[in-house]
Amino acid sequence: MLKNRFPIFTNKPQLCFLDNASTTQKPDVVIDALKNFYENGNANVHRGLYALSENATENYEGVREKVRAFLNAKESSEIIFTHGTTEALNLVANSWATSNLKAGDEILLSVLEHHSNIVPWQLCAKKTGAKVLFTPINENCDLDYEAFEKMLSSKTKLVGLTGLSNTLGTLVNFERIVKSARKVGAKVLMDAAQLVAHKKVDVQNLDLDFLAFSSHKLYGPMGAGVLYVKAELLEQFEPWMGGGGMIREVHESHSEWNDSPWKFEAGTPSVADVLGLGAALDFLNEVGMEKLEEHEKKLFAEALEKLGQLPFVKILGPQTPENHCAVISFTVDGIHPHDVSGLLGEDEICVRAGHHCTMPLMKNLKVAGTTRISLGLYNDSEDLDKLCTALEKIHKRFQ
Ligand code: PMP
Repeated sequence: MLKNRFPIFTNKPQLCFLDNASTTQKPDVVIDALKNFYENGNANVHRGLYALSENATENYEGVREKVRAFLNAKESSEIIFTHGTTEALNLVANSWATSNLKAGDEILLSVLEHHSNIVPWQLCAKKTGAKVLFTPINENCDLDYEAFEKMLSSKTKLVGLTGLSNTLGTLVNFERIVKSARKVGAKVLMDAAQLVAHKKVDVQNLDLDFLAFSSHKLYGPMGAGVLYVKAELLEQFEPWMGGGGMIREVHESHSEWNDSPWKFEAGTPSVADVLGLGAALDFLNEVGMEKLEEHEKKLFAEALEKLGQLPFVKILGPQTPENHCAVISFTVDGIHPHDVSGLLGEDEICVRAGHHCTMPLMKNLKVAGTTRISLGLYNDSEDLDKLCTALEKIHKRFQ
């Protein structure tokens, strides 16, 4: 779908890119936005009183509104620009959590989490004395919702879960998660690094407190990301990083903070990358998230079927199109995932191999690593055929 809008596929016609969970390729409009900013609009934001800077500020703040609409947040002040999901999660951990958690409180994660949604909480636990707990998965590799509900208690202050596993493609049922978490008064955070590229996410509808994502996994540039914080919680956020832009007044004895969200955006932001993110959101609106979902749903079912026909391929977790999307992890009999990935790479087929920054999940699955394909809107049946033919060739070579 729309492969011709992505210049890399015109420049490298043989490229079969199946590593979208790692990062996505960029459409023409995103590349143009970056080029246009540096060629015609380069100036810092919120500083200059000349037209170039005022335009840069207006366009930068315009993207905040686009992100608000994309997530259906109530107010654009709930949208904080960061440099990516990792920074956004660290911001919640350092800003909200360190000043709102105390010894004995619990942070409930899951074994599906990416290291970016584990390590900041371990660091936070060290500072506050709070405990980090992990919800297990069941024999179908889905989140174990019964176990999750049993682990919730009045000690649970934060539930932090991925919307979509970057390793297994498991979707997490946030309607159920939020409903249960509210019973004990816990705040809910969604790591949406993967999910936003595949499904429409409505923060009001889901009643989320925090949500994080990266521009580069959503067809935008690397270097920009978003943290959504529900308006009423912004009051509980102390700034994490200090510097220019986040203050109203600075005195030798103390400083006073700017309003949200600028209070959390210290220093020069990645202006060009934020504008690129805006172009990516325009592009996705043009495509339509429903159309994207429909295309990827069909392709995901086709990928499961085609890989399922290779007897030497073992797909991890009984993956079903109802509870999974976009990502499939597998092992190939007798061949190390790194060898599989390296040999596929020789045919310009890009997949990822290893632990996918989910070491606790690997331990739970009792594997050292997997080979992973992850779909994007431009992938098609031809990519899947190319992958399966190459896997057959590799398997023969190792026999
Ligand atoms: N969470 C998940 C689920 C991810 O897949 C990733 C990236 N692989 C991250 C967080 C971190 O994103 P970034 O590296 O863009 O900060």
